[in-house]
Amino acid sequence: MSKRDYYEVLGVAKNASADEIKKAYRKMALKYHPDKNPGDKSAEEKFKEAAEAYEVLSDDNKKARYDQFGHAGMNGGGGFGGGFGGGMNMEDIFSQFGDIFGGHFGGGGAQRQQQRGSNLRVRIKLNLEEMVNGTQKTIKVKKMKMAPGATSKTCPTCNGSGVQVKVMNTMFGQMQTQTHCSTCQGIGRIADKIPAGANAQGLIKEDEEVTINIPAGAREGIQLNVRGKGNDAPFGGNPGDLLVVVEEEVDAAIKREGDNLHQELYISFAEAALGTQKEIPTVGGKVKIKVDAGTQSGKILRLSGKGLPSIDSYGKGDMFVHINVWTPQHLSAEQREFFEKQIKNGDMIAEPSGKEKTFFDKVRDLFN
Ligand SMILES: [Zn+2]
Repeated sequence: MSKRDYYEVLGVAKNASADEIKKAYRKMALKYHPDKNPGDKSAEEKFKEAAEAYEVLSDDNKKARYDQFGHAGMNGGGGFGGGFGGGMNMEDIFSQFGDIFGGHFGGGGAQRQQQRGSNLRVRIKLNLEEMVNGTQKTIKVKKMKMAPGATSKTCPTCNGSGVQVKVMNTMFGQMQTQTHCSTCQGIGRIADKIPAGANAQGLIKEDEEVTINIPAGAREGIQLNVRGKGNDAPFGGNPGDLLVVVEEEVDAAIKREGDNLHQELYISFAEAALGTQKEIPTVGGKVKIKVDAGTQSGKILRLSGKGLPSIDSYGKGDMFVHINVWTPQHLSAEQREFFEKQIKNGDMIAEPSGKEKTFFDKVRDLFN
């Protein structure tokens, strides 16, 4: 079967303008639309034939190739790779209709767009205590705000409805399609007066202080949503939201590992020998801990429940205190004499019993 000429299919002249081609196709598509010709195979063929013709003639590149080489230039052979291969399915054809009929084919409703400002995203650093107990932070946010003096007016194209209705006369009667108004993009209002420095929508960038309530139990990476504190919408819509992403401030003293916390505690040689009491920071405030006489460097004290509240259970993590015995680096003459005497007498020697926990024992204990 020889293919009909595309211009002939659409019933237009070879020198037809893009607009004439579009109009001709619209006419064909309505005439042979399957909804109007149920069960009519020849109408469906004509419908597909018109769609194929339009697919080529509405595309400048394909049209130029078709004008020069005819159908031979469209089949992907003869060095014209990527040519139009025929075989459009109905879905392809219907997806073209957006272009032809302006969005909604065969009725369907466009509605006025609820204009909303865009969301803003900021990061906020919190220390462990703030994350556990919650806090309030006031931060400065750069956001788009309606410029003073900016005014808007009702869109003259759609009279504020945001919708344009197109009525087409076809041989099957009138077809009505609704699309978003092209003048106001469906908002219903357009800018009237725009002060200097504002953008085309009457918005200007400004700093604003926003107070954010951080609930207890916040964690690194969670996002808090502060409603209505994002960018303003142009022409009186609702502002967007401020999205606050929590970042954990790296604490010099306390390290987090899941729900557990770790910290290093340095004690002097004498404190290790005689035992002592120390005050250490936790997220619930300072607590006193007892260091036994004869404590070895590397000992880990576990303070049960002094970690972070668990996210997925009611429990709490623990605080691990890693003891480091500080060997004196500057000795007075008197201290030097004391230590020399210990060595000479064979006192104060290292005498492990063999029951001391190795590094690996301690690591294993942490996870049990
Ligand atoms: Zn409008």
